[in-house]
Amino acid sequence: MPVPPTSSRRPIPGKPPLEPASRLQFLPGVGPQRAEAFERLGLSTVEHLMRHYPRTWLDARRFVRIADLRPGELLTVEGTVHTSVAIRTRAGRTDFRVELDDGSGARLGLYFFGQPFLARTLLRGVRVVVSGELDPLERRMLNPLFEVVEGEMEALLHVGRLVPVHALTKGITARGMRTAVRHALDAAAAAVKDPVPAAAAEAHGLVPLAEALLQIHFPEDEARLAAARRKLAFEELFLLQTVLELRRQALAQEGRGRNTAGAGQLAARARAALPYTLTGDQDGALEEIVADLKRATPMHRMLQGDVGSGKTVVAFLAALHVMEAGHQVAFMAPTEILARQHGRTLAALAAPAGAAVEVLTGATPAAARRALAARFEAGEPLLVVGTHALLEEKVRLPDLALAIVDEQHRFGVRQRATLAQKGVIPDLLVLTATPIPRTLMLACYGDLAVSTLKARPAGRGRLVTRVTGEEKFPQVVEFMAGELAAGRQAFVVVPLIEEAGRADVRAAEAEFERLASQPLLRSWKVGLLHGRLKADAKQSVMEAFAAGGVQVLVTTTVVEVGVDVPNATVMVVENAERFGLTQLHQLRGRVGRGAHRSVCVMVAGPAASATARERLELLTTTTDGFALAEADLRLRGPGEMWGTRQSGLPRFKLVDLARDEELLEETRVAARALVGEDPQLLRPGHAALRETLLAHYREPLEVALTG
Ligand code: ADP
Ligand code: MG
Repeated sequence: MPVPPTSSRRPIPGKPPLEPASRLQFLPGVGPQRAEAFERLGLSTVEHLMRHYPRTWLDARRFVRIADLRPGELLTVEGTVHTSVAIRTRAGRTDFRVELDDGSGARLGLYFFGQPFLARTLLRGVRVVVSGELDPLERRMLNPLFEVVEGEMEALLHVGRLVPVHALTKGITARGMRTAVRHALDAAAAAVKDPVPAAAAEAHGLVPLAEALLQIHFPEDEARLAAARRKLAFEELFLLQTVLELRRQALAQEGRGRNTAGAGQLAARARAALPYTLTGDQDGALEEIVADLKRATPMHRMLQGDVGSGKTVVAFLAALHVMEAGHQVAFMAPTEILARQHGRTLAALAAPAGAAVEVLTGATPAAARRALAARFEAGEPLLVVGTHALLEEKVRLPDLALAIVDEQHRFGVRQRATLAQKGVIPDLLVLTATPIPRTLMLACYGDLAVSTLKARPAGRGRLVTRVTGEEKFPQVVEFMAGELAAGRQAFVVVPLIEEAGRADVRAAEAEFERLASQPLLRSWKVGLLHGRLKADAKQSVMEAFAAGGVQVLVTTTVVEVGVDVPNATVMVVENAERFGLTQLHQLRGRVGRGAHRSVCVMVAGPAASATARERLELLTTTTDGFALAEADLRLRGPGEMWGTRQSGLPRFKLVDLARDEELLEETRVAARALVGEDPQLLRPGHAALRETLLAHYREPLEVALTG
């Protein structure tokens, strides 16, 4: 009885052939009104519809006789409509009841809610196939998938197969979607141009595009579905990797023909004055950066390392090389607080070398701004510290040779473009404490070189992590009080609850009140810091905490980046289950910076699930930020981890970075080979690729392909 569906239907005779680029309203059964509904899903052409891949597939391939139906799984039955009755409910809805007969001795009841039009379809004597789960009490199926079969049973779309489940919108039913997709495939799948060049497709064993498009929507079996998915995921990654490779190549060709590194005497002087020696990793990273500075092509490098691994001093020593050669350096922090903090740190480091460090933020008074601008204009070799706004303001740095960006995940593609438009392309050094899994790294920043600091600087006290529950709060306070009595300080971090509007502020404020009123903490000063405070209020509480005048700082994740208070030895994170592992790892990096032993307490809220607590336990077993980032990527996915918009991470339809690491590597190799052979994609076999890339990635590519 199982009927293998065939994979294609004949085009409807007498209709003009459709192109992949044809508007959807010309597709049979669509028309202007439904075309508008499709538009809401971002689908306006026939190809868009073919590219609207299913979210998942229901396995409705088990055909059984009605007499053998059992509840508890998705089963399929073929039969003939025996009776069909429309029912007016008291609520004014029209339901529909059908009885199906398959000659097996039992009949199957079907019940459809609010689908009166079925009266015209499911007439007595009509042959249908239905897929659904049997309701155990009433031995009937509620709202089953169904399909009317005429003549030969071929190419079932809605039942009795791996049934595609597409994202829908108002005005488009699942059936309507499947039918439209089927028409689109029949009309134009064969005409979709494959952007993956034939040679690459062959080398990587990919099925033809038309076959992949058919099988991704209406797979004949799992193997063909897997092959289709592989092909289409390869395409997604390959396009992206080709863009990154073209960009890398374009940057490499922007020869400035100048070496922007001095002999290193300033850096040597500053180094000699450091109260510590650089770790091997720091030394290595500095060497890599200086080697880049000496090259004629612009540097594009990321310096990656856990919080507290000592990235700042490395970047600073590199900056001194550039200043020694007579050029200007911009150092950009994500917030004003951090810009000022960096300003102070860097000024102290620069003093022994006699180098100039200046801070410029929105809060800099007009007169000071003008004085600074004059020095910039005169081309004085100095280091200016500011926020990312440095790039957008009308600040002219006529001899900017190096831009250092702290915390790249707040630094998007747009800012990078702005930087490049400022005339001479400066060297770019991005510092990040977010350990980025290799997969993500390749996917988003395939065009960045990377230096990594893995070793923790010596002389740091032990850092212990504990996971506990909200019910242990009194003990947490007691422990905190003990540390405070020993002269140490503590952070208490609460989550930012976006859905609740201003609730994050209230949460921080409520927590502040709760702690301030703890009898055990009465003799200590509790401070409050969150993103909605005025800049000077933030500034003063931060300064008070840094100076030790405030001993407990209640805060949101604004402390996640950069804050450096070595005397703080306690980090309490409330509702820790609401944070990603990477974020928690960064938070815990705020303590353990001094010589004293530090403790990080992750407090799981009352609503935290057992799984969530298990996830938190991972933090107690490893301090390797990269391992945690990988775990985060697997458990929460890149969107959660990064906030896709912020990171400039592409939205994939099929690719799952946590699973597709191998494919990513394959596409990277393929893209590199291809761009190496045909840097402008001018060969005839690359025309479709070129066209697709220009359509989807025009901005980043204009220079590479048309320049
Ligand atoms: P990051 O920016 O990577 O989070 P920082 O540059 O802020 O780390 O460094 C954290 C602290 O470690 C600073 O107080 C810095 O002076 C100190 N530090 C940096 N390198 C070393 C080192 N090699 N040995 C000891 N302390 C170091
Ligand atoms: Mg830092």
